[in-house]
Amino acid sequence: MIDLKNLTIEKAHAALQKGEYTCRELSEAYLAVIKEKNKELNAYLEVYDDVLDQAKVADEKFKSGNATTLTGIPFAIKDNILFKGHIASAGSKILENYTASYDAFVIRKLKAVGAVILGRTNMDEFALGGSTENSAYGVTKNPHDTQRVSGGTSGGSAAGVASNLALGALGSDTGGSVRQPSAFCGVVGLKPTYGKVSRSGLMASTSSFDVIGPIAKTVEDAEIIFDAINGQDVLDSTSIPENLELRKYNLKPKIIGVPYDLINQEGIDPKVKDNFEKVVKNLENLGYEIKNIKLINCIALYYIINFAEVSTNLARFDGLRYGMHKDGKNLLEDYLLSKGLGFGKETRRRILLGTYVLSAGYYDAYYGKAQKARVALKKDFVKIFSEVDLILTPTSPIPPWKIGEKSDPLSVYLADLFTVIANIVGVPAISIPSGFIEEKGVKLPLGIQFMASHGREDLLFEIGKKFEEIAPKALSKPYLGL
Ligand code: GLN
Repeated sequence: MIDLKNLTIEKAHAALQKGEYTCRELSEAYLAVIKEKNKELNAYLEVYDDVLDQAKVADEKFKSGNATTLTGIPFAIKDNILFKGHIASAGSKILENYTASYDAFVIRKLKAVGAVILGRTNMDEFALGGSTENSAYGVTKNPHDTQRVSGGTSGGSAAGVASNLALGALGSDTGGSVRQPSAFCGVVGLKPTYGKVSRSGLMASTSSFDVIGPIAKTVEDAEIIFDAINGQDVLDSTSIPENLELRKYNLKPKIIGVPYDLINQEGIDPKVKDNFEKVVKNLENLGYEIKNIKLINCIALYYIINFAEVSTNLARFDGLRYGMHKDGKNLLEDYLLSKGLGFGKETRRRILLGTYVLSAGYYDAYYGKAQKARVALKKDFVKIFSEVDLILTPTSPIPPWKIGEKSDPLSVYLADLFTVIANIVGVPAISIPSGFIEEKGVKLPLGIQFMASHGREDLLFEIGKKFEEIAPKALSKPYLGL
């Protein structure tokens, strides 16, 4: 029996190298847990039927001496990432039977190192939401309390890693979708610098915010995955090359900025605040200097740009070229029927609002203003990062909520308070488990978020690993799966 609960990518790689078990046996161990738990959790929408073939390729890499750290490591991928020959539905009815005709950049990278992709995970439709409740295929339950949401939009990936249905996963982060579900499920989630990971083969949500990021059990594992998937790509003109120079200096972060005004706002759960204060104290004890900084609430700014870009990007799903098609009496009726039946409620809401903020007469008042505010915020960040090395916040202002509890969209939007900032500015951010709170006898995980300046993922990994060392004593045991 492989001890999946305590397994990390590092440990699995060492065991595979030593021949303690094969890639096939490792994959089979995960497939067995999926069989046992997935029905209840609904983390995977599909487990691929070629998993053992992939494992065979990985085993051959070990035999021929061509294995690297990710060879044979079982992965889950979010349902909006294209894997040639496999269905990718973005959690939507409209793409129910859409089969990818090419591999996303990240899939090419994973294939090249011989990782094993177990299946595609549940998500809010087109990555719009924060709980997977907007999926056309049912909610993904939180493995810590199955009455609660796993977070979103990469809820299936986070719940999967948390409950040993995969050792690593990919999600996408437009406004927090890697970090928030990671926090809700007690795992690590990294949103890389915008452009560090190619968007080629990622279904577009908000193109100027979207980035693919790893979900893993430890900071080290997240770093290993990030190292494997980042890089410049001719198929994504916004992708940027790795700056190896930066890592050479091996800088250590010392000053941490905390936006106290934002954290002391109304609507932040007192238990979240309490946990956060403990984190700050422990970092101070470790010798970090904590500095008060000013950050504004960016929810409105984020959503105006999100609505606008989503409405533009989703125009391609017209029922003619991709996925679901319903015949009406004429072309207009074809559109109305296909989109009306294919898109869920939240997706339709965003398309309508996006069309509104972009329409003549309102463009300047909403979209134009939001873009100006975005430029101003980017300038603010340059100044902030000349004074501090990192910014620290809770990942989410509230713990995972009960399934069905939040019926108004606004309250779900407000839960993105701390995460959207990094996407607007394009900086990297990581969510790390910061302990548990108790709600009616059930322990629910919380996460904290560090942001660094553009391209400085190295600082996030450095502080993240330090934080994982203190977390067991101060807050909880490091989290290694259920
Ligand atoms: N919750 C945010 C939204 O609904 C972020 C989603 C995401 O990162 N994909 O837009």
